[in-house]
Amino acid sequence: MARLKKIGIIAVVILSILWIGKVALLDRSPVPEKSDFSLNLKTIRALAHESKGPLPESLHALVIGEGAFPASAVVAGEGLTRKISMVFASFQIVYPGNKTIIIDSAMGQKEHKAMAPDAPYYPERFDAMQDAMLKASQILLTHEHPDHIGGIAISPNVQNLKDKLVLTKEQINDPFRQPEQFTPEALRVIQSLKPLEFEHFISPAPGIVLIKTPSHSPGTQFIYVTLKNGTEFLLVGDIVWSMENIRKLKGKAYLLNLMFLQENRALVASQIRMLSNVLNDPENKIQIVPAHDAERLKELFESKSIVEGFL
Ligand SMILES: [Zn+2]
Repeated sequence: MARLKKIGIIAVVILSILWIGKVALLDRSPVPEKSDFSLNLKTIRALAHESKGPLPESLHALVIGEGAFPASAVVAGEGLTRKISMVFASFQIVYPGNKTIIIDSAMGQKEHKAMAPDAPYYPERFDAMQDAMLKASQILLTHEHPDHIGGIAISPNVQNLKDKLVLTKEQINDPFRQPEQFTPEALRVIQSLKPLEFEHFISPAPGIVLIKTPSHSPGTQFIYVTLKNGTEFLLVGDIVWSMENIRKLKGKAYLLNLMFLQENRALVASQIRMLSNVLNDPENKIQIVPAHDAERLKELFESKSIVEGFL
């Protein structure tokens, strides 16, 4: 009897430890009631109209790879068995006269397959993006992680991209970068860039404003885009991987930080609250675009807010 009692106590202790571990590593991701960030839309909109020249006419997106992550990783506290569809995409802003700006460059096939061996990848679209980068006047990044800088990291034309790359100091220097994922030439080109320096906001071209939001990575920035027709977008990179994070006020699972992410979770949480305020403000019509949310991108393609495929 005493032995049975002992086994019972041990089982309860083990289950309690497992439960506490699950809550800490997968479920907990508190978002504060108030955000330390405000979007300061008045300043952003004024800056977007300050640069000389016509506003962009359309925003395009090219899905280069797909994947699916467990919901419990993408949104803390979600189920272990459900999966959330992800995309790895590049964005193209189109101005009158077909002048273009590219945002993010996804990653190469080898790198994508290493991450998601069975997920679809479209090499012909990667090649189309390389052509589009050559034709673009600027190339911007939401942040410097391999699934966003990857198309530059292995670009066969990286020398010809040099004058178009508009990267911040943090994006050039982020220690998180994995040098083995860059060609030596790309590393040389990136390290020789003159960084774009600004404190909070800067407009690199008409209708576009970069907003410093270090948190997911040191070089993370929101990219605000307003079109000639008045549609406004906020490309939020990987601050969240899904609109569900904003709707449910939950960040990613903490386990990911222990495994490979190096997020400042307090800052991310504060930015999620700010995005929730934007989403729930009836006056606000800004379209929030998380970089990897497949469902959200499909919705924006269907509503014709974003054009599917590059020019
Ligand atoms: Zn990413």
